[in-house]
Amino acid sequence: MLKKVDDYLNNEILEHYEKKIYDQKQLIEISKALNSTLDYSALIDSILNTCLAQMHTLNAAIFLAPDVDANYFQLDPSYKGFDFSDEHIKLKIPTDSTFVQFFEEKPKAIDLKNLVSLPPLQEDSVLSMLKNQGVEVVSPLSAKGKVSGLLILGEKMNLSSYAEEEREFLTNLTSLAAIAVQNARLYELATVDMMTQLKVHHYFQSRLREEMDRCRKKGTKLALLFTDVDKFKNFNDTYGHQAGDAVLIEVARKVMECCRKNDIAARYGGEEFCVVMPGAGIDEGYQMGEKIRTAIEKHRVINPNTGEELKVTISVGVTEFHISDKHNKEMIERSDQALYKAKHGGRNQTVNNPKTDA
Ligand code: GH3
Ligand code: MG
Ligand code: MG
Repeated sequence: MLKKVDDYLNNEILEHYEKKIYDQKQLIEISKALNSTLDYSALIDSILNTCLAQMHTLNAAIFLAPDVDANYFQLDPSYKGFDFSDEHIKLKIPTDSTFVQFFEEKPKAIDLKNLVSLPPLQEDSVLSMLKNQGVEVVSPLSAKGKVSGLLILGEKMNLSSYAEEEREFLTNLTSLAAIAVQNARLYELATVDMMTQLKVHHYFQSRLREEMDRCRKKGTKLALLFTDVDKFKNFNDTYGHQAGDAVLIEVARKVMECCRKNDIAARYGGEEFCVVMPGAGIDEGYQMGEKIRTAIEKHRVINPNTGEELKVTISVGVTEFHISDKHNKEMIERSDQALYKAKHGGRNQTVNNPKTDA
C-alpha cells in the first residue's frame, strides 16, 4: 500500500518537473523568436500571437508608452480579439498611477478579479473598464525593476481560469517581452531621424550596401532615388526655421506614404532624402520618383506660425544598380548627377541616370 502511494507521489513529482522543463524550453524558444526581430510593430504582433498560442485564449492586448518620453501607457493598435471602443483606444494609463505602481512593487501576472478586490484598486476606473471588456489576467512588462507596459488577456478558450503555473509562465513571458521591446525601442532610436521619422544616414548606407550585395549574389535589381526640396532656403528665410521644419516633416511623410513595403526611405542629410528600392529597375524607380514628386506638388504645407498654405516642390534623381558597381558611392554619385540635372532642367522634375554597359 505504502509503495503504491510512494509510486504515485514519485510520478506526480516527475510530471511536475517534466512540465517545468518543458515550460523552460518553451521560454527559451520564445526568447529566441522575440529577440530575432528589431522591427517594433512586428515584435508586438509576435508577442501577442505567442500569448494567444501559449495561454489558449483568443483575446490579447498590450499597453505601452507611445514614445520614450511619454509618462503614460496606451493601447497598442495591434490588439487581438478584444472589441475595444474609441474610448479604450484613447485611454491613457499614467505610469505613476496606483495601478502601474502596484506592478512596480509586485511584477507578477495576476487575475483581474484579485486585482480589483485590493483596497487601493477597488475604485480604479481603468480596472473596471478592463473588467467590462472581459479581461481575466494582467501581466507587467517588467525589466530592471521598471514596468514598461502591461499585457492583458481575455478568458481561456475552455473557459477555465488561469492556473498558478500559467500565471507564472506568463510572468516570465512578459519579462522576456519587456527586454525585447526595450531593445527594439533603442534600435529605433538609433536608426530613425526624430524629426522626419525617416531612417538615418548610417542606416541608409548599411542597407544600401546589403542590397547591392544581394544584387551581386542573386542577380536582382535595385533602384536608388535622391530627392531634394526646391529652393528650400527660401522657406527658412521667408517664413522662419519652424516653417522650414514643417516642410521637411510633410515632405518626409509623403515620401513614406508613396513607398512600397520593402523600400527604405532615409534622410541623407538636411533637406535631401533618399529611397532604396529593392527589386526595382530604373523604370520603376522613375515611376516612384514621379509618384513622390506629384504627391508633394499637389500637397499644401500649413505654415505653423501663420496658418497659410505653402506650395512645395522637389527634384528627383534616379539610378539603378549596375553589376560593375563596387561601392555605395557609385550609385549615390549617379543619383546625385541625375538630381543635379533635374535642378538645372528647371526643378520640380524627375531625371534618370542609368549606367550603360558601354
Ligand atoms: P535648390 O533648389 O538648389 O535645392 O535650393 P535650396 O535652397 O533648397 O538649396 P540649399 O542647399 O542652398 O539649401 C538647403 C537649406 O536647408 C540650407 C539649410 O539651412 C537648410 N536646412 C538643412 N537642414 C535643415 C533642417 O533640419 N531644418 C530647416 N528648417 N532647415 C534645414
Ligand atoms: Mg540640398
Ligand atoms: Mg534644395
